[in-house]
Amino acid sequence: MSEADPAPVLAVRDLRVDFVTRRGALHALDGVSFEIARGEVLGVVGESGAGKSVTGLAIIGLIDAPGRVTAGSIALSGQRIDNLAPEAMRRIRGKRIGMIFQDPLTSLNPLYRVGDQLIETIRTHLDLSERAARKRAIDLLAEVGISAPEKRIDAYPHEFSGGMRQRVVIALAICAEPELIIADEPTTALDVSVQAQIISLIKRLGRDHGTAVMLVTHDMGVIAETSDRVAVMYSGRIAEIGPVRDVVQRPLHPYAKGLMGAIPTLAGDAKRLVQIPGAMPRLSAIPNGCAFHPRCEFAFDRCRSQRPEPRPHGTRLVACHLYDAAESAA
Ligand code: SF4
Repeated sequence: MSEADPAPVLAVRDLRVDFVTRRGALHALDGVSFEIARGEVLGVVGESGAGKSVTGLAIIGLIDAPGRVTAGSIALSGQRIDNLAPEAMRRIRGKRIGMIFQDPLTSLNPLYRVGDQLIETIRTHLDLSERAARKRAIDLLAEVGISAPEKRIDAYPHEFSGGMRQRVVIALAICAEPELIIADEPTTALDVSVQAQIISLIKRLGRDHGTAVMLVTHDMGVIAETSDRVAVMYSGRIAEIGPVRDVVQRPLHPYAKGLMGAIPTLAGDAKRLVQIPGAMPRLSAIPNGCAFHPRCEFAFDRCRSQRPEPRPHGTRLVACHLYDAAESAA
């Protein structure tokens, strides 16, 4: 994050998302704050149910009922977007915010040639003739690494491999030069050999186009390869956020330590394959105090009654009572 930049591409402040049920509101997100600067990749990591994907869906205004944003704000380049009418939000999606999901077929219509989909999206958002949009589509396919793009543009999605389909989705996501790309588990469905190529492509595009990227994944290895900063989420809150090198090499929050321990090393160092005992709590059963306390080997009395708030510690923010006293010294 560039602290000198007065308007980050994305600014999320105290975001809360509730799912209203007969037994009351369940907090899927509760007090989530972060920023992403131009050209920066923020990795958002955590186990399933941590709130990573809900954060992405809240930003693009696609949380399904009974879920809804109940507090906080989301600003894109200084403009609030969490309170826009559905039609205004639809215009922002695809134009100012590009999206890449785990399954490329979520974004691609199997019945249309990929070129038609690219051209339609380009012309929806940019004032270009059919011919100019086709030229732009071919250039984009070349940019994301599809060979012979002038021929492949007329192929259908099923004629591409999984990795190539995800490249087409990336071309779709960037075709209107968005300010922000949200990529939710973009490599999870792909072969390991293809994953690295897609990761380096997303990273390069962010750099080349100055796009801010929010990369949601459960895979710390992907974060370590791609991101400038990382936010570790647990039970709908950010446990730790900071520069990727610091958080990966010297995690502070006990949950982050557990996650980093779960990154396999090339040398196959078994000591690093640490498992965190227990499981992420269900939304209906989030413990009082620190939600991580039933799984935390460092838990003490205060952890069971008082919720830790994110506090500065050196280059990062950490929500853990172990660091409350160190805050002023950091
Ligand atoms: Fe563990 Fe307490 Fe820190 Fe939570 S606040 S992570 S329970 S030490």
